[in-house]
Amino acid sequence: MPTKNVQRLLKDNEKYAAQLTGGDLPVLPSRLCCLVTCHDARIDPTKAFGIGIGQCHVIRNAGGSIKDALRSILISQHMLGTREVILVKHTDCGTASFTNEEAHETVNDNQGEVTVPPDFDFMPFVDPETSVREEVAWLKSLKALYKGTVVSGLVYDVETGKVKQVV
Ligand SMILES: [Zn+2]
Repeated sequence: MPTKNVQRLLKDNEKYAAQLTGGDLPVLPSRLCCLVTCHDARIDPTKAFGIGIGQCHVIRNAGGSIKDALRSILISQHMLGTREVILVKHTDCGTASFTNEEAHETVNDNQGEVTVPPDFDFMPFVDPETSVREEVAWLKSLKALYKGTVVSGLVYDVETGKVKQVV
């Protein structure tokens, strides 16, 4: 039996599928762009950043971590043809609310034993602007990044819905 959330998903999907257009678009995003952002439920990238179907790869993870997204970024660029990366972190991010040490303690307490390697990095950060600058610089320094790739970094304000460019 599907959970309540899956039931809701199936119901909403029927409506969506009935009006879908663009199902025949090519796999290469038309903007040749890959956007990385946080999995925060308050961010709706398609609406907030005006991304239409077929236009842009959107990679989401906790904190909008470039390191965490690297596998997807490299596939997006080298296997699927995108040539630009945009990182969008945000204010009031859950991944800025703990340290690595605290995350390890919480997981260990919840599980009653050590279940992740002690050197496992939960990739927390303190300030979104500083983190955007650092992560963009890190990505640009990678030799695996497709030559000539443009990388930008922005911060989204979850209260106002406004986004500003940092780098
Ligand atoms: Zn977040």
